[in-house]
Amino acid sequence: MKKVVKFGGSSLASAEQFCKVREIIHADKSRRFVVPSAPGKRFSGDTKVTDMLYACYNAASANSDISGKIASIQARYQEIIDGLGLELSLDEEFAKIKKAFEEQAGSDYAASRGEYLNGILMAAYLGYEFVDAAEVICFDEDGVFDAEKTDRVMRGRLDGLENAVVPGFYGAMPDGSIKTFSRGGSDITGSIVARAIHADLYENWTDVSGFLVTDPHIVKDPVTIETITYRELRELSYMGATVLHADSIFPLRKEGIPINIKNTNRPQDPGTLIVESTCHRPKYTITGIAGKKGFCAINIEKDQMNSEIGFGRKVLQVFEENGISFEHVPSGIDTFTVLVHQSEFMEKEQSVISGLHRAVNPDTLDLEADLALIAVVGRGMRANRGTAARIFAALAHANINVKMIDQGSSELNIIIGVHNEDFEAAVKAIYDIFVMTHL
Ligand code: ASP
Repeated sequence: MKKVVKFGGSSLASAEQFCKVREIIHADKSRRFVVPSAPGKRFSGDTKVTDMLYACYNAASANSDISGKIASIQARYQEIIDGLGLELSLDEEFAKIKKAFEEQAGSDYAASRGEYLNGILMAAYLGYEFVDAAEVICFDEDGVFDAEKTDRVMRGRLDGLENAVVPGFYGAMPDGSIKTFSRGGSDITGSIVARAIHADLYENWTDVSGFLVTDPHIVKDPVTIETITYRELRELSYMGATVLHADSIFPLRKEGIPINIKNTNRPQDPGTLIVESTCHRPKYTITGIAGKKGFCAINIEKDQMNSEIGFGRKVLQVFEENGISFEHVPSGIDTFTVLVHQSEFMEKEQSVISGLHRAVNPDTLDLEADLALIAVVGRGMRANRGTAARIFAALAHANINVKMIDQGSSELNIIIGVHNEDFEAAVKAIYDIFVMTHL
């Protein structure tokens, strides 16, 4: 059995957290490959090392003296080194980093140093080999992640190693320059390592005991999801549920490797298991509820639209030409609605409107702004009758006006559009009907 274990920033913010991490790793021999993030926040209001690095690099780019900023970043690591009683000096590394910052080595290089240094520290603490991610995570000359090359190089490098620490978040381009993934990207490194070594399980250790059925800012203490499929997770993450970087799903999904989200502060909790497919029936009909505000609907009406072949294509082409991606396109006999992100749409609004007039000559065209979309996701919906009825009864009972409904053909989700101001109440009503009353 081989496991890859990734630890997030809050799991590695202090010496105390490092101790917990070591205990977790040592508790299970199959936890062989470790992917650390940079030290995160020690308390609310604290600054993540990655953010300190970005700020320091900005100062260097403005030709300010960065000695003070570099010293406070080094102090963060020193505090951990001292707390663990390690014989390790990062002086030379910090001298190199300061020089590279002053020579404008790039903001990706700057940000990556958080994970790089934490990797060195973690390897020293565990007595494992340190494998620099720049050696094994490959981007092409355009900065696009090269999955195939990485898989080959990574496997070659890790093959034969019993244990190793590979820092998260970055890799290198063919010319050796450092490139990072987007923020939170250490999760992606973890899945890439898991794929390369054909791991049995990818454990992603963080500060929560898994995915919650819905946002705890909206519903107090929502229950945890025990098992979720990749497809369900994709739907929920897309609609705003965070915990895991959305791009970390792709490398593993192809291989059918499960991910277990675990809590470093409560290792006894089972966490959430993310799988390709499962016979485990979800506890509730729905697996999760997520949503986002800030959408806009463009409603197009034209008599006899249904017989005009190519109408939809022409409409969507206008959005394509304006570089706007659409979210949903509910339609009726003579109506066609396109839902888009309001912030993206607003800049191009007038150009889209005139483009639509030219392309399809509608009878009416009106815009409805400030909409929120809610995704109710669950593989259990397929086998259950009346899910939609329950959702809409709950919304009606909460006095919420439903602006749009879209059920995917997979019967995995139902998307509901409401006014921004009804968003929280709608999520709460749906949660209550499924979880609180356990229907
Ligand atoms: N340290 C990086 C960030 O703060 C990457 C990560 O933590 O996954 O975004």
